[in-house]
Amino acid sequence: MPMIIDGKAIAEKVKAQCRESIAALKSRGITPGLAVVIIGDDPASHAYVRSKVRTCEELGLHSLKIQKPSETSQEQLLEIIAELNADEAIDGILVQSPPPPHIDEGAVVRAIDPAKDVDGFHPLNVAKLAMDDDSGFVPCTPFGCQRLLIEHGIETSGARVVVLGRSMIVGKPMALLMMRNGIGGNATVTVAHSRTRDLASVTREADILIAAIGKPHLVTADHVKDGATVIDVGINRVVDSTTKSGYRLVGDVDFDAVAPKCSAITPVPGGVGPMTIAMLMANTIKSSQLRHRATS
Ligand code: NDP
Repeated sequence: MPMIIDGKAIAEKVKAQCRESIAALKSRGITPGLAVVIIGDDPASHAYVRSKVRTCEELGLHSLKIQKPSETSQEQLLEIIAELNADEAIDGILVQSPPPPHIDEGAVVRAIDPAKDVDGFHPLNVAKLAMDDDSGFVPCTPFGCQRLLIEHGIETSGARVVVLGRSMIVGKPMALLMMRNGIGGNATVTVAHSRTRDLASVTREADILIAAIGKPHLVTADHVKDGATVIDVGINRVVDSTTKSGYRLVGDVDFDAVAPKCSAITPVPGGVGPMTIAMLMANTIKSSQLRHRATS
């Protein structure tokens, strides 16, 4: 049987380290603060925001939730961001994705002070990641995936990594992280996407396969070579009348079919998901540390 990579346990370890850093900051009279802005009433987005706020409370971070109706204009949202940029109590700002369609998400991301962009989506932080500049913020989900590999001692140096998906949130930063010269990097990286020809022949090359496509169970046993490590980023709702909610969450990987071929694999839920929030907390603390170093 493969090693099941326990994202919950590793997220708890990251959070324990966060607690130590928060205690050190608090001893200097500093409480790191995260502002989460949510526009509209998408239930899944509200659930994500709730768990981010809950984790802030659990760790003793200051959290500010700003909730606005879907009619909120682009100008109003930009005003909120300008206020948060200027708010000394706030170290991290994130606008929950996806905003309503009339909002230009790119413009919103660019309006966030890069020093408070704990999602790591601002062009300056994307450039810093590409340039191996550690003063920036790495997007939380790929950062969490890399941490899972490091914590489990899975060798990335020289490994063939295939990243399935090329979004700015997961696929692209994931590929950049894996090819970086450093711990948890130095891999030979291939990025596959919806136009990739003969996908299974590409993914079968992978020592480490990272799936971030948003298609339930697209990755089957045929896509994976024996002994590979599989990281499943996908979170997909599928109808399930046997559950109270009427749905259940599944990954992009057909876990039951793929797991027997793997040396290690993440489950969904309980794999990458908990890491994303833990890394958000770590990024917020890093922002606080950097900002207070700059001013003290
Ligand atoms: P996007 O929809 O932005 O990107 C999906 C990517 O997958 C695109 O690059 C797309 O290719 C590619 N793709 C889609 N269909 C196929 C296919 N049939 N074959 C090959 N490639 C395909 O999604 P995200 O990156 O935002 O998210 C991906 C998944 O990860 C989702 O399930 C999302 O819910 C989950 N997620 C989970 C997080 C967590 O905390 N665990 C956090 C963020 C996301 P193309 O570019 O050609 O269209």
